Amino acid sequence: MGEFDLIARYFTRPVRRAALGVGDDCALLSVTPGMQLAVSSDMLVEGRHFFADVDPAHLGHKALAVNLSDLAACGARPLAFTLALALPRVDAPWLQAFADGLLRLADAHQCELVGGDTTQGPLNLCVTVFGEVPTGQALLRSGARVGDDIYVSGTPGEARLALDALRGRLALPPAALQQLRPRLEQPTPRVALGLALRGVASSAIDVSDGLLGDLGHILKASGVGACVDATVATNLLAASAQQAVATADFGAQTLMQCALAGGDDYELVFTAPPAQQAAVQAAAQASGTRATRIGRVEPAPGLRVVDGQGQPVAQHFASFDHFA
Ligand code: ADP
Ligand code: MG
Repeated sequence: MGEFDLIARYFTRPVRRAALGVGDDCALLSVTPGMQLAVSSDMLVEGRHFFADVDPAHLGHKALAVNLSDLAACGARPLAFTLALALPRVDAPWLQAFADGLLRLADAHQCELVGGDTTQGPLNLCVTVFGEVPTGQALLRSGARVGDDIYVSGTPGEARLALDALRGRLALPPAALQQLRPRLEQPTPRVALGLALRGVASSAIDVSDGLLGDLGHILKASGVGACVDATVATNLLAASAQQAVATADFGAQTLMQCALAGGDDYELVFTAPPAQQAAVQAAAQASGTRATRIGRVEPAPGLRVVDGQGQPVAQHFASFDHFA
């Protein structure tokens, strides 16, 4: 199978919303008047972002999910995406499963594959996603204000528990790993929550490198500081772990590290004024996602991490950095 047969077979479908899709030099997208285009790229590299033996359908899902997560964090509605793919060889069953996982998630979000590039090389995937947001309404990192509440969606840390178990750093009964593994390999981008938070949240970011590290980006961009209660997110994760393994005893430190610095969660961290508390919960409910208040924005720069009694937690929560 040659390059063009491969593209035609696995990555070409009739266009729906796009004016022109796969097959020409460019795809053509029409943007609704009054909307801005939200654009983001994320690359996945074998050995760095995924294991070589990962289920290709899960990999297809994740390649798009991490990009949809960026749209979610901006409150943008997905429109279309491109896929740049380096493949060591043509492996038909692998490609079929990969395309199935990718296009299933794409269909669920009515996000069309409109183009890309295909080349031979070490397995590497880069998706660029395009979304729409009403002009001026995108959720930005820079919008947090002193006094705002800080929230996180879902249960941060589950993906890291699964990763540590897969790497053999954490003993997890098979049934528990089976329950947590999808959180690592098939994360759910919080697109519906992001849309519902337009006009409600003052700032937002998606958690790819760790809850506190990513919150730090909001604080820096907004020129503010924050106080976060470490026990809240840790307890969410403890409850979820307990559900996975009734007798779970991961140790409080492990759970806290995973919850606050785990990474690969693709949850949203966002801020909202206290007056929006009910609106935040309504947005969470409407999108079928839990949102939990974990702290408050403060004027003094820096991040204070405290326990349930307000005492400082003496721990370092380094977030993921490819070059650190
Ligand atoms: P060009 O040489 O003009 O860049 P290519 O020959 O690389 O075009 O690709 C042919 C067509 O197939 C283009 O429309 C391109 O967007 C599309 N395409 C290439 N690879 C992929 C892919 N992995 N998924 C979807 N579309 C792809
Ligand atoms: Mg090309």
